[in-house]
Amino acid sequence: MNRKEYHREYYLKNKERFKHKGTVWKTKNRDRLRELQRRSDWNSKLETLKHYSIDGTPQCECCGERHIEFLTIDHIHGGGNQHRKNIGASGGGAKLYRWIKKQGYPNMFRVLCLNCNASLGWFGYCPHGNIQKEVKIETDNQQSLFS
Ligand SMILES: [Zn+2]
Ligand SMILES: [Zn+2]
Repeated sequence: MNRKEYHREYYLKNKERFKHKGTVWKTKNRDRLRELQRRSDWNSKLETLKHYSIDGTPQCECCGERHIEFLTIDHIHGGGNQHRKNIGASGGGAKLYRWIKKQGYPNMFRVLCLNCNASLGWFGYCPHGNIQKEVKIETDNQQSLFS
């Protein structure tokens, strides 16, 4: 008996036990919604990363990391946390990505991987040596974007 047959056999034998009315449906639906949400978040992320990557292939501006899972959008002039708070996107990236798109992809972001981004944030430099923390410039224009 192969695995598939085994599972089928198991299912038939325990058929009644699989029939939890309602709860199963709810759980399945919740998972499905979560999955749809995840996919749409992933797509907004991908779109944003592509826009800010040099040749349209998402990659870290410092080390060239290409795994989407490791990539993130960096506020070139800093102030990222405050900015996320202002637009209500403290929790995760998806809101920020949608905001960026709505703003027409302003020129204040770049793509970094989590390593380079964290190093830059904590130490003020990345050991790869390819990027620098730019001096925070508070122009009127940026102020209005932030508020
Ligand atoms: Zn990197
Ligand atoms: Zn780096």
